[in-house]
Amino acid sequence: MALIVQKYGGTSVGSVERIQAVAQRVYKTVKAGNSLVVVVSAMGKTTDGLVKIAKEISASPNRREMDMLLSTGEQVTIALVSMALQEIGQPAISMTGAQVGIVTEAEHTRARILHIETDRLTRHINQGKVVVVAGFQGISSIRDMEITTLGRGGSDTSAVALAAAIQADFCEIYTDVPGILTTDPRLVAEAQLMDAITCNEMLELASLGAKVLHPRAVEIARNYGVPLVVRSSWTDDPGTWVTSPKPQGRSLINLEIARPVDDVEFDTDQAKVALLRVPDKPGVAARLFGEISRQKVDVDLIIQSIHEGNSNDIAFTVTTPILKRAEAVASAIAPALRSQSHPNTDEAEVMIEQHIAKVSIVGAGMIGRPGVAAKMFATLAEAKVNIQMISTSEVKVSCVVDAAEGDRAVAALRQAFEIPENQRIGGQGDKGTRGEKEQNLLSSSTPNSQLTTPPPVRGVALDMNQARLAIRQVPDRPGMAARLFGLLAQHNVSVDMIIQSQRCRIVDGIPRRDIAFTVSRIDGENTQKMLTQVAAELGWGEVVLDNAIAKVSIVGAGMVGQPGVAAKMFEALAHNQINIQMIATSEIKISCVVAQEQGVKALQAIHSAFELAGSEKFVVPA
Ligand code: ADP
Ligand code: ASP
Ligand code: MG
Repeated sequence: MALIVQKYGGTSVGSVERIQAVAQRVYKTVKAGNSLVVVVSAMGKTTDGLVKIAKEISASPNRREMDMLLSTGEQVTIALVSMALQEIGQPAISMTGAQVGIVTEAEHTRARILHIETDRLTRHINQGKVVVVAGFQGISSIRDMEITTLGRGGSDTSAVALAAAIQADFCEIYTDVPGILTTDPRLVAEAQLMDAITCNEMLELASLGAKVLHPRAVEIARNYGVPLVVRSSWTDDPGTWVTSPKPQGRSLINLEIARPVDDVEFDTDQAKVALLRVPDKPGVAARLFGEISRQKVDVDLIIQSIHEGNSNDIAFTVTTPILKRAEAVASAIAPALRSQSHPNTDEAEVMIEQHIAKVSIVGAGMIGRPGVAAKMFATLAEAKVNIQMISTSEVKVSCVVDAAEGDRAVAALRQAFEIPENQRIGGQGDKGTRGEKEQNLLSSSTPNSQLTTPPPVRGVALDMNQARLAIRQVPDRPGMAARLFGLLAQHNVSVDMIIQSQRCRIVDGIPRRDIAFTVSRIDGENTQKMLTQVAAELGWGEVVLDNAIAKVSIVGAGMVGQPGVAAKMFEALAHNQINIQMIATSEIKISCVVAQEQGVKALQAIHSAFELAGSEKFVVPA
């Protein structure tokens, strides 16, 4: 007999017939000898409908009232599902987030779960009832009784948090697709189902636009080792397991806001190769990285920044032993790029920087918490360490710094994030080890898995809800990134890709660089306004906003240590005449910003380039 949490999404409870089908599945699971907590979403597109009505009354509705409104959707479903269960003879009781005791922060519309009081829940379960809980909602504290919501798509998070709190044997997410696919089947009908994916891969995919799971749900599953599976509401097929490392016995207090950083990593013996002033047109990155992969040079971070005018900078890091080979490739290619470039463009140039190191903070707890990156930059600034390159993923922020400042940087970060001295840190070769660990995790936890060598790319995601901000001419000195990201954190603006240009320009006697980053589109305009207000005072140039962008990303732990993955992605884009505006990578993902109208085409081209398509076509039910 198992204790199971099942979550049913909006489409799965979208009509009377579907609610009855859910009740049947729940009934069958109980009859098989299990105890059940069922978490449900609002019916169909109810939440969207409520948002629309609110927007007709107010352009920026009060956030407390928004929570009051949106939480009603789930309350309808819990009552109906309980009735459907009672109707077929299964004792059941519905409970709101408040009644269960899902206590959250007092942050309306984006609250994080602090803890869950399980007594009431357990009492009902022990009486043989199925408890039907409203997903997506909580209560700010038992004293204030303010209704909060967790953010759109948050029912997945409610379900996994409940599973962690009651120590359920596993958590099942029932939805309108058969599981986690290589990409969104609404955009590529031939997307293929995976039987398993590691939590780190899923964290990246979810936060890069694959809405099949709420990223915070994956984070909780990972932190508490909750076995998690995504399955279809319409069939009995096994679905996709999200595999997590062994739990570390974390406290259930401050469930979603526990220590955000698990480790500080340090990679020495790094070098940077930058190509400055390459033409801003399709095919440039493909050409460079195509040649690099033919020479079997394994690159680590890649960034491409936008620039004023019609040229870009592309930079990448390699380990020192292969620097000579990397440099030779870059130097051989530069003249060819030069002859292609616009006659008015300055000439392409190769810049090498040796003796650099990479320091990174790692931890799933930094998702959606802009304050964590800001704290890293502030800590480095206080330690007088200048940041040369920044690369971010959802679970990691890496900064390239001068090697001579590496130890100081690591010590400061460990102190700031309270990472004990004796904790293992990375170093040379750590990247490979981590990749292998991920893959072992996958194979050991899925005994029936068909996967022997996982493909380098597991999934492709598209995010059409991003905007790009660029700040021109930011003085190149310690503390500037800290100021900028401190400001963003204060305004609760989460940043994804962050890129500093490689080129320094001297303006008014001060070396300056551009910094570009992406934010959620809804934050774009306010962030631009806010930054423009402080720009003059901080000595920054213009703040430019571009809303018409799309971000397309590939994710896979198997890409670690495999040259040629980036090249293949860039070639697929070049082949389709798609210009890359920005590139940012982490160990297990590569993201490119392209023009919005080319987003879907870019996703499809990349999905097919990595041969992820299957022979079967999925039709997602309405
Ligand atoms: P629910 O209402 O059940 O929570 P969602 O609409 O939030 O369902 O999430 C399921 C949807 O996620 C699918 O219908 C699909 O269009 C989309 N999706 C995006 N990327 C993926 C992916 N990689 N695998 C599966 N589904 C995906
Ligand atoms: N009903 C909420 C939403 O549509 C929560 C969820 O479905 O996960 O965002
Ligand atoms: Mg959802």
